[in-house]
Amino acid sequence: MLSPIRAGQHMLRNRVIMGSMHTRLETEPDGIAKQIAFYAERARGEAAILVTGGFSPNAEGIFDPEGPRIDDPKEAENLRPICEAVQAEGSLLCAQLLHAGRYAKIEGCVAPSPIRAPINRYVPREMTDADIRRTIEDFAKSAANAQAAGFDGVEIMGSEGYLINEFTVPHTNKREDEWGGSAENRHRFPVEIVRAVRERCGPGFLVIYRISAADLVEGGAPADEIADLARKIEAAGADILNTGIGWHEARVPTIAYPVPRGAWRKAAANVKAAVSIPVVASNRINTPELAEDILTSGEADMISMARPFLADPHFVKKAREGHADEINTCIACNQACLDFIFSDRPVGCLVNPRAGRETEFRDTPTESPKTVAVVGGGAAGMATASEAARLGHDVTLFEAQDKLGGQLNLAQAAPGKDEFNETLRYYSGQLQKHGVKLRLGQRAGLDDLNGFDHVVISTGVTPRIPDLLGVDHPSVATYAEILSGARAAGETVAVMGAGGIGHDVAEFLVTEPAEAHNTDAFCDTWGVDPKFATSGALAGDPLAPKPSRRKVVMLQRKASKPGTGLGVSTGWILRNALRKHGVEALGGVVYDRIDDAGLHIMVDGAPKTIAADTIVLCTGQEPERALAEDLTARGATVTMIGGAKEAAELDALRAIDEGVRLAQSL
Ligand code: NAP
Ligand code: SF4
Repeated sequence: MLSPIRAGQHMLRNRVIMGSMHTRLETEPDGIAKQIAFYAERARGEAAILVTGGFSPNAEGIFDPEGPRIDDPKEAENLRPICEAVQAEGSLLCAQLLHAGRYAKIEGCVAPSPIRAPINRYVPREMTDADIRRTIEDFAKSAANAQAAGFDGVEIMGSEGYLINEFTVPHTNKREDEWGGSAENRHRFPVEIVRAVRERCGPGFLVIYRISAADLVEGGAPADEIADLARKIEAAGADILNTGIGWHEARVPTIAYPVPRGAWRKAAANVKAAVSIPVVASNRINTPELAEDILTSGEADMISMARPFLADPHFVKKAREGHADEINTCIACNQACLDFIFSDRPVGCLVNPRAGRETEFRDTPTESPKTVAVVGGGAAGMATASEAARLGHDVTLFEAQDKLGGQLNLAQAAPGKDEFNETLRYYSGQLQKHGVKLRLGQRAGLDDLNGFDHVVISTGVTPRIPDLLGVDHPSVATYAEILSGARAAGETVAVMGAGGIGHDVAEFLVTEPAEAHNTDAFCDTWGVDPKFATSGALAGDPLAPKPSRRKVVMLQRKASKPGTGLGVSTGWILRNALRKHGVEALGGVVYDRIDDAGLHIMVDGAPKTIAADTIVLCTGQEPERALAEDLTARGATVTMIGGAKEAAELDALRAIDEGVRLAQSL
């Protein structure tokens, strides 16, 4: 991973690319300053090439009405300071050229054929021959604008179901002219774009082409056509072939935590077998060990990681310095990166609150060191303690359990969410590195907290026990008891509460442990060809049922559809997985009582009994605040954060963000 590699006329300092990410920083006040801080920090972290978020090469290609473009030389020139900041730190900066095609959320979007995307309400207009030729020219002009503004190269986005990808496969290309029909014709558009960019920008300009290595949609390309396209793109003048996996409309998860690490490496290997220019593996690669394994196995020449550089901009540098254990690992939760972008917020990161907000945080040590007690070693407490100690405060962390982590220890039991162990590993390491005094297994009392300048209460939450007749029946367990393994569930289970935790518990109950880690099992579950050879790399219906041996019913009182409050980019995966595994979800229920016969409810005005062996309470949390109230009464300086402050909607995102920000303000 750390060895140099030649790409075109460039000798790259290592084999790592920071992949393209939408950041929305360009829409922020002081957008250029924020982008400089964002990209320069990642260049200091030593990735060889950074690829920007996508710039449209023309007006029809913008992703949404505010989407950035690079077809105006003056607009491109505004980006020069970003190029200079990155280059000053020794990395190359490539602008991604992305024409959104039928995914553009605008009136007047265009595509090879007028077929609406299932994820867009706008029907695209079919491009004329003149439109196609003009668009090729738009790509070339935009690349030249990037070059003139100081970029080292461009990445031409040919995957994920955007315009170029729409031309390459029959799924979206029904044309009968020279741009459709045979593979030769369908490949003409990307090949002409690469040729035009190379001709316009000369041999020294880095040209990366991102090829779709597995479309994951019906009517997608088979491996032999992908290999054929790869060879043509190489011949047309590309220096590097990056790989993309899955269209945005695919019903197969591609990057979120249910996808095993390295699941797509063989798709990159198929491309590599076809060409001699460097090929890049991407998607769900988040550790240096995995990157090394893919490179040494010969499946790819380079690795692209995007979200891991949000989680830790210094990923490569830490690996080079022998501190890979200090990398803050991306846990593939999507909660603050994609989900923020989808809700029109600038990109962030659950495990690293500084991501995308670099200008809001400081690294300079405090000028007035304080003695700080942090009570509670969950996500909020660990984040506060490690950041406060890093800035020079004298910090003691009390944790009543004999191990750190709090709710993270429960979250990591859900299928695929054992990635949270990395967050625990990272923050535990930071506590040690910055000299936090750990008091594990010690429930801090009032007297233990005497004499500290500041006390931080991060005592977290306890499961809410609803006021319901029979809730103390032996069949009833809390989510904490089930996820921690303290109680085992029976064969028929009623899950009360259909929030994030209810869904996680239901998923936990119906998933065989191997599924979360084994690529073959994952491919089998989601109908993917493990050799990535078939059309679209599909081997079946991604939504085909996979019944579980356990019968689970999940309930909520609200009449709305269960699961609507889950994260935009992961909720659909959870909902589909539960449906595939035969979990029944019921909304609009009224709980009546629990007894030996099971859980009695009213639904649609009719009584019903769910004869469950186990009834799991996932009915929210209550804050643990008693200590804070006693301390405040004594006049101590106390700050409550995380679940102790507000149990509703608590998640690790808010906990870590509040912790780090509090530490910065002490
Ligand atoms: P939640 O999302 O607020 O869900 C609590 C559930 O309990 C709801 O279904 C609620 O629905 C029900 N409920 C609340 N009070 C009740 C009562 N007195 N009696 C019966 N039912 C009651 O909270 P959570 O599931 O505990 O999750 C906590 C936090 O963790 C959330 O903020 C979530 O963002 C986060 N989280 C997210 C995920 C994810 O997105 N995958 C996973 C885990 C955790 P009704 O009132 O309609 O019955
Ligand atoms: Fe990774 Fe989650 Fe951070 Fe996104 S928010 S970069 S998925 S850890």
